[in-house]
Amino acid sequence: MNDTTAQSTLSDAHSRVDTNETTMSTNTTGTEPTVGASTAGHSWFDRPVPGVKHRLTAPLTAVETEPSTECSNCHSMITNTALIFNCYVCPHCDHHLPMSARERLQWFLDQVDGELGQEFVAKDPLAFVDSKPYPQRMQEAQANTGESEALIVLYGKLRNIEVVACAFDFRFMGGSMGSVVGDRFVQAAEQALAEHKPLVCFAASGGARMQEGLLSLMQMARTGAAVERLRLAGVPYIVVLTNPVYGGVTASLAMLGDIHLAEPKAMIGFAGKRVIEQTVRETLEEPFQRAEFLLEHGVIDEVVHRHQLGDTIYRLLAKLCHVPNVDA
Ligand SMILES: [Zn+2]
Repeated sequence: MNDTTAQSTLSDAHSRVDTNETTMSTNTTGTEPTVGASTAGHSWFDRPVPGVKHRLTAPLTAVETEPSTECSNCHSMITNTALIFNCYVCPHCDHHLPMSARERLQWFLDQVDGELGQEFVAKDPLAFVDSKPYPQRMQEAQANTGESEALIVLYGKLRNIEVVACAFDFRFMGGSMGSVVGDRFVQAAEQALAEHKPLVCFAASGGARMQEGLLSLMQMARTGAAVERLRLAGVPYIVVLTNPVYGGVTASLAMLGDIHLAEPKAMIGFAGKRVIEQTVRETLEEPFQRAEFLLEHGVIDEVVHRHQLGDTIYRLLAKLCHVPNVDA
């Protein structure tokens, strides 16, 4: 009995909906015959309405109007505005694209109070020439990046913690470490030490700068000594390894942190994969030297998505510096 009642109620409802639809369509055509006639060939939405601007016939796509960047992983085109808002992470495949040092620091710090080490200028003591003279290479890198060297040091605030933060710019001669990079890093560490502020370093480098020969190799010892002074004084030093970190930077300041974080799929190593393959005569499979591989083998502490980096570093620093966590 109940089933039959339910079915009859349902069929009643259907017939009511049908009647409503018929009524609506009759009303539309019946009450506005003139509009339909005047916009013959146009859709109902395109009809002219007094006081409302007519929409463009061919809507412009964002790609046509804005400069865009191709994702190196999934090859989709992303507008530069979308990239900036997404911290240079591809919205389609989550690939972490390269980020300039200054943008990274400005995005990381909640308040920037100043910059360190701008007074240091690179010299050319070896009068080094490869395919181009070293000073010419420097000028080109400065013109292309708008920076004077491969390391940028800013100090300011991360929420309620005063920090000194530095970042390598890989676009500037492959983020290579010359004497000025060493000078700036040591100055950053000394300021952190003097004011007892934690130091955060975003590393991205191909290694030491061969144009400066031994002077660039000496920076490994200098920066290592500066980090050791921080350790003795109990000042936290956090390293974030971004894609890629190699050579003398891996062999010094980038592997001496109290905590090592890395961005997903970042390539981190000392010698390149090909050089190692030639030496050990073995084929090294894909995850080799990736951040996830290093995490599995205990080289780094955590792989952190770029969107979570700021919060993760803040939580760690709040604990290490015994500062109340304002996010908690
Ligand atoms: Zn992508």
